[in-house]
Amino acid sequence: MIIAANFKTNLTRKQTASYLDALEDILKEDDNSQEVLVFPAISSIDAHEGRVALGAQNAYATLNGAFTGETGSEQLEEFGIKTILIGHSERRHILGETQEELVKKFNFYKKLGYKIVYCVGEPLDIREDGSEPMMEYISAQYEGIDTEYENLIVAYEPVWAIGTGLTPTLRDIELLHLTLKQKSTAPLLYGGSVKLDNIEEVLNIQNVDGVLVGGASLVVEDFSKMCKIAQNIDDKE
Ligand code: PEP
Repeated sequence: MIIAANFKTNLTRKQTASYLDALEDILKEDDNSQEVLVFPAISSIDAHEGRVALGAQNAYATLNGAFTGETGSEQLEEFGIKTILIGHSERRHILGETQEELVKKFNFYKKLGYKIVYCVGEPLDIREDGSEPMMEYISAQYEGIDTEYENLIVAYEPVWAIGTGLTPTLRDIELLHLTLKQKSTAPLLYGGSVKLDNIEEVLNIQNVDGVLVGGASLVVEDFSKMCKIAQNIDDKE
């Protein structure tokens, strides 16, 4: 399974470094073989040795150049970063990234062979319009995206469930994941208020290949327990 942590704009460089040290130790102690990805704040990214892969929460579709305030692939690769999150709802809805921009970013990082965690998901008002408009909305987020890209991971994250403590029912997640698997056979993560209390039931849903965790990933003891739960489920299968 894939267990991913999105720190968003949290934790300093120092805090991130000690988090990663602790996480590596616990994963080793637990003999954990799950794929663990951590997306720290960009200023906290550093060269990291270990089994946890660090990724960028965002970057610009460029190697380098005159793009004030942005990060290019050259800056990421200095730290061995080859994983990127694209299309997170906070980038779509707060930072205003359009599908066209996301596609450009996707294609740029695809060409460089990055592992891309590509996020899709609907806001509450769209969900309330019913399942047809909701699927149309989500389908539009697949437009221009190479759904067969070998290093693609898709994350389904209903916008209204992110950071709110609300989650769809397990049945809703199951149905949505079943539908999304028809669009791409890439690993499909669920994200949106996943925490220690609910991760086990979420990971047990069919077609859930892992989770993307925001707020609840910030405490290393909690996140490592989540990785352990994933391992236990895998061991039982
Ligand atoms: C996220 O940021 O991708 C996320 C799912 O956040 P949270 O777990 O806090 O809802």
